[in-house]
Amino acid sequence: IEYKEKESPSIWFTMEGDGITAVVWTTTPWTIISNVALAFHPDYEYVVVKVKDKNYVLARELLEKNANLLGWENFEVKELLKGTEFEGREFRHPFIDRISRGILADFVTLEEGTGIVHIAPGHGKEDFEVGREYDLPVISPVDERGRFTREAPGFEGLTTDEASRKVVEILKEKKSLLREDKIVHQYPHCWRCKHHLIFRATEQWFLSIDHRELRKKALSEIDKVKWIPPESKNRIYASVEERPEWCLSRQRVWGLPIPAFYCKNCKKAVLDPAVIRRVGEIFLEHGSDIWYERDASFFLPPDYTCPHCGGKEFEKENDILDVWFDSGVSSLVVLRDEEWPSHVYLEGPDQHRGWFNSSLMVSCAIREKAPYRVVITHGWVLDEQGRAMHKALGNVISPLEVIGKYGADLVRLWVGSSDYTQDVRLGPQILERLVDAYRKIRNTYRFMLGNLYDFTPEDALPSNELLPVDRYILSVFQVVKEKIKDFYEKYTFHRVYHTYMDFVIKYLSSFYLDILKDRLYTYGKTSKERRSAQTVLHEVLSEMLIIFSPVLSFTTEEAWSYLPGRKTESVFYNDFPPVKKELVDEKLMKEFEHILSVREDVLLLLEKGRREKIIGNSLEAKVIMENKDEVLEKYRDYLPEIFIVSQVEFGPAEGEVILEGEHGKYALKKADGNKCERCWVYSPTVGEDPQYPSLCSKCREVIRRGDYG
Ligand SMILES: [Zn+2]
Ligand SMILES: [Zn+2]
Ligand SMILES: [Zn+2]
Repeated sequence: IEYKEKESPSIWFTMEGDGITAVVWTTTPWTIISNVALAFHPDYEYVVVKVKDKNYVLARELLEKNANLLGWENFEVKELLKGTEFEGREFRHPFIDRISRGILADFVTLEEGTGIVHIAPGHGKEDFEVGREYDLPVISPVDERGRFTREAPGFEGLTTDEASRKVVEILKEKKSLLREDKIVHQYPHCWRCKHHLIFRATEQWFLSIDHRELRKKALSEIDKVKWIPPESKNRIYASVEERPEWCLSRQRVWGLPIPAFYCKNCKKAVLDPAVIRRVGEIFLEHGSDIWYERDASFFLPPDYTCPHCGGKEFEKENDILDVWFDSGVSSLVVLRDEEWPSHVYLEGPDQHRGWFNSSLMVSCAIREKAPYRVVITHGWVLDEQGRAMHKALGNVISPLEVIGKYGADLVRLWVGSSDYTQDVRLGPQILERLVDAYRKIRNTYRFMLGNLYDFTPEDALPSNELLPVDRYILSVFQVVKEKIKDFYEKYTFHRVYHTYMDFVIKYLSSFYLDILKDRLYTYGKTSKERRSAQTVLHEVLSEMLIIFSPVLSFTTEEAWSYLPGRKTESVFYNDFPPVKKELVDEKLMKEFEHILSVREDVLLLLEKGRREKIIGNSLEAKVIMENKDEVLEKYRDYLPEIFIVSQVEFGPAEGEVILEGEHGKYALKKADGNKCERCWVYSPTVGEDPQYPSLCSKCREVIRRGDYG
């Protein structure tokens, strides 16, 4: 339904009551044919005004406005009445022999009209609902072509517009018409063919929401489900609490048929569980389209008789089921009994009235249980400025376009990195930022794989033989895994992404992988130092790929195919890797936290040395630290590697380049000795050996043993 402007008649007419005359306004004169009541607002005041020989009734607040419109010059207010006093009073229909009852309704307003609303339950939702409250008859003598039927004598065959004109003529004749005008107002139209709509009450199949306390059951089941985000629980709760009866039938030419029959003799509907099961069997064999190919007798058991009258001839129901019913039974159809209820339902916020709701009602009706354990509601996708995407605005981003340009994994990364509980933005700048993140991850995988070319899991060292910094990374990784596992379990995927990225950038890319280069490239190929690094690279990478495979599915699968000694053919054939508590070393992590903090100081010192042209490459430097604490002392042999310098000494910080850091004072000097041409580290050992005058002692050893290349 869409609303747009329409020109309609606008008429004031009267209905005679006991000594009073109600003044009523309407823009749909044809509905007066089906009038059965007049609605008054219980809280408004109404006046009885004498104009000539009539005692007109209307809302007090609208008296002046209507007096002008109706040209009442001399009138006298005779009485003031509360709206409630009209409940149960009787009025006479202006041209049909029918009583129109006075009723009360909150939807009566003072915005337009007279404060008295003509009620035709056959032609409007509010009218229908208030009609049910007052048990009013539903008169709806209009057929599906929009023409009046025999039930409206004198109007038969007329369209609603034609009937409106005729009603106005009759009202004039009966002296019931006070004013005739036209109005341009917002009126519901068909969104597809743009015709204006009329409302008519028809017979439909319903699922009774309160039958056997279904609504109560559904509401109590809502409490047992985990709703993400938590606020979404209020939405589903409200929509179940206030949902009207579920109209299950639709008048469409094709769909899933409603397996009901009508007795040709007594015209009553036959809805028999045994027959429905039989129809189900037939559908299972032939598909449901057979409903449209065969007649009723094909579906009914032989010699079936009407349970109401014993009749033997039947017609099929032509209506189909609401598609929300089709989707509502999906959990029962898709899941085997032992898999039911489903783990999680995931959809947009509109589904609180749609799929989440219909699934809940059907499951509670049939199995007395919600069909899901977790329901996740995601936001909408907006453009970069936070506007909804519209063709007219030209801001629509097609996933296929993004995939074509950046690859499917970038779209996956965008989804994984977004907090979907909110509306999510998408645009070129956001994608560019993600491209950077994606490259970072991909390059990290490449670097790690590139340094595992000569490694097989048999080369791995036991964890107690690993170098401290390698054990440290392995320990941090266990903590990261534990967090990520928890975030996955809570469906907070953007936290998975941020934790993963943080590990990639902070721990791997800007620290660990950087300091490993010397060890990986210049130490003996089979040396303990290099194998220690490779052991950690292999273990961390293989688990990193598994952990992130739900997000970067293509990239992780590709990297996995190059992983030496992989245990499964595909990365997806793995469970989430267990957190190895025995590798978590709190003390070591504390110590390295400190060392990394000192490293920040040293990086500033090196930067200063570079600015002052004392050094170029950091390996040209010797760092002298005044702070000689226990931890630094303990790991002093590893500090040159961690700082990527040639030498680290403890002592008074004096010289050209001085830094007052967070952890004390530092000095930078040119490194002692000469540069080894193989590893670029400066060392007094370079030149000691006439056979290899340009190599350091470490490199000479590697060359001598042939442990390289
Ligand atoms: Zn239409
Ligand atoms: Zn019958
Ligand atoms: Zn060397």
